Amino acid sequence: MRIPDLIAASEEPCFSFEFFPPKTEEGVAELFASVEDLNRLEPSFVSVTYGAGGSTREGTVEITTRIKREYGIETMAHLSVVGETIAGLDAILGRLDAAGIENVLALRGDPPRGEPDFTPPPGGLTSSAELAAFIRGREATARFGIGASCFPEIHPEAASPEADIAFLREKVEAGAEFLISQLFFDNAVYFDWVEQVRDAGIEVPIIPGVLPIISRAGLHRFCDVCKAKIPARLDERLAALDGDPEAERAFGIAYASRQCEQLLAAGAPGIHFFVLNRATSVKAILGAIKAGRPWERTGGEVAAAARGRR
Ligand SMILES: Cc1cc2nc3c(=O)[nH]c(=O)nc-3n(C[C@H](O)[C@H](O)[C@H](O)COP(=O)(O)OP(=O)(O)OC[C@H]3O[C@@H](n4cnc5c(N)ncnc54)[C@H](O)[C@@H]3O)c2cc1C
Repeated sequence: MRIPDLIAASEEPCFSFEFFPPKTEEGVAELFASVEDLNRLEPSFVSVTYGAGGSTREGTVEITTRIKREYGIETMAHLSVVGETIAGLDAILGRLDAAGIENVLALRGDPPRGEPDFTPPPGGLTSSAELAAFIRGREATARFGIGASCFPEIHPEAASPEADIAFLREKVEAGAEFLISQLFFDNAVYFDWVEQVRDAGIEVPIIPGVLPIISRAGLHRFCDVCKAKIPARLDERLAALDGDPEAERAFGIAYASRQCEQLLAAGAPGIHFFVLNRATSVKAILGAIKAGRPWERTGGEVAAAARGRR
């Protein structure tokens, strides 16, 4: 099923999980153990990332296909233009279509490891908006559900917050039907940004992306790469745990549970979890959210209307 149709038809928030294609056999086994575990929580869909510079091209198609075929879960393949020719993109989309995948997250993508800046590939595309238009323009994939990324803290390469939101509108006009946000830890920043996006006339569903913190060191590594901000108070509270792994994980579960609760109570249409292929924390967080059902707290109709706006 196309994810935009799934979101529109769902009476309850959509919960989705993001995995990455592992490089080793053990990694693949760990990934599928997590899929098996998390499948009990009935995700609305799962997505599989596309390695920087096309480094996991084969893995993305293969893992996405296996999850859909073996577990019957709706899947979305991430696809980026970095290092890809038009013919290469065409071939990947053809393989996804042949495998029955109907959803793609259209990305420009991160440059390959060791290269700081994005360089448009010769004979390729230059942005997520161009990729969304390309997918829409192919006969076999014109019907695909297309998602795109968005950045509540503003993309580091944007000329200004206004320019970032103007470009987001271009992505939507090019064919993106829903948006998944970069991770963030301060809901107030997210809510302010969503208001600006709605004021700019962008009406598609926006699903906030949430990273469960597993360790302080891991959090810093991850945020160094994606340039997400770690609020000072959050970092201080983590530092006070003195590197105790159990305490850091428990803190991460509590922090993400509270964050999701507030987002859903305010009408977010779902949560996209950056699972990093490990199920334990997400299971605890989603279990807590589903037990509390925060989306019902604002009252049925109010919550449904807010979901449209958030
Ligand atoms: C949910 C999510 C999943 C992701 N999955 C992956 C993945 O699987 N693989 C991967 O490599 N990376 C992934 N990323 C990271 C993403 O690739 C990086 O953020 C990358 O730096 C930009 O890719 P994009 O598609 O967001 O780019 P774009 O949206 O195309 O561009 C990034 C920014 O550059 C500016 N910009 C670009 N083109 C223009 C233009 N023509 N005019 C004006 N401004 C412009 C805008 O400010 C825009 O926000 C993901 C990010 C998110 C939020």
